[in-house]
Amino acid sequence: MADSLQMEVRKAFCEIGRRIWQKDYVASNDGNFSYRLEENLVVATPTMISKGFMQPEDMVLVDLEGNQVGGHRRLTSEIRMHLFIYRERPEVRCVVHAHPPHAVAFAIARKPVPRCVLAEAEVNLGPVPIAPYATTGTWEFARSIAPWVKNHDAFLLASHGAVVVGHDPFDAFYRLETLEQYARILMLAMQLGEVNTLDLAAMEDLLRLKERIGSADPRRHGDTPVCGNEVRPTPAVWQPGKMSFERTDAPITDAPKASPLAPPQEARERNLFARPDIEEATRETLRRLGIE
Ligand SMILES: [Zn+2]
Repeated sequence: MADSLQMEVRKAFCEIGRRIWQKDYVASNDGNFSYRLEENLVVATPTMISKGFMQPEDMVLVDLEGNQVGGHRRLTSEIRMHLFIYRERPEVRCVVHAHPPHAVAFAIARKPVPRCVLAEAEVNLGPVPIAPYATTGTWEFARSIAPWVKNHDAFLLASHGAVVVGHDPFDAFYRLETLEQYARILMLAMQLGEVNTLDLAAMEDLLRLKERIGSADPRRHGDTPVCGNEVRPTPAVWQPGKMSFERTDAPITDAPKASPLAPPQEARERNLFARPDIEEATRETLRRLGIE
């Protein structure tokens, strides 16, 4: 019988963790990944573990309020940013956070990531905003990406790291790879002294291609300019006080739960990371919570 979706995700986290560690995108116990299994159930990497040496049973389960509901290791406080994204983006299934050095260098220098330079980056990344600095693990940290969260897929966190979203762990990981490689190539080109840009006709082709493969780009429907550095916020994305967890800024449960590895999801024969139709259910939950 095929693994349950949850077990596939746990294994995928081990695999992308190994790659992320080998590629130097994290040091020590840095980084965290999560995947939304159901409308109110997320499987995530725990705190205090090297992402290069994880086992499937190391993962923890958390609800959208930030309560740990499974796993014998401890939840990371940075899960708050993941939960914030899931609440704002019902279609997002996976969030990956790491510290890829060339990309983070832009976030330290507060140097905007230029656009219209490399075709792959235009299609796979789109505009990359730099969120203002906030203390890691707080709700303020989680909300630092609020102005852009609705319609961007990759974010830099000032003086900290990078966050990407995706349909599944590999989709998110590939986006992280594109971000880091793009940042590295930009630095090399800057050292050579010249960064040439694509013209608007070429960009129009790329944005159309991106749309055809089912990926929205904020430049097609918002007022962020196609090229340049500016990444405009989307108005009225985050409304303070309207999110249920806004009312409680209590620390996320710290006590490790005694429960062993949570029983796998009901075993279902389905394709790896097939996307079940949870969107409407999630919307309904968000409506009930008064978020939409
Ligand atoms: Zn971090």
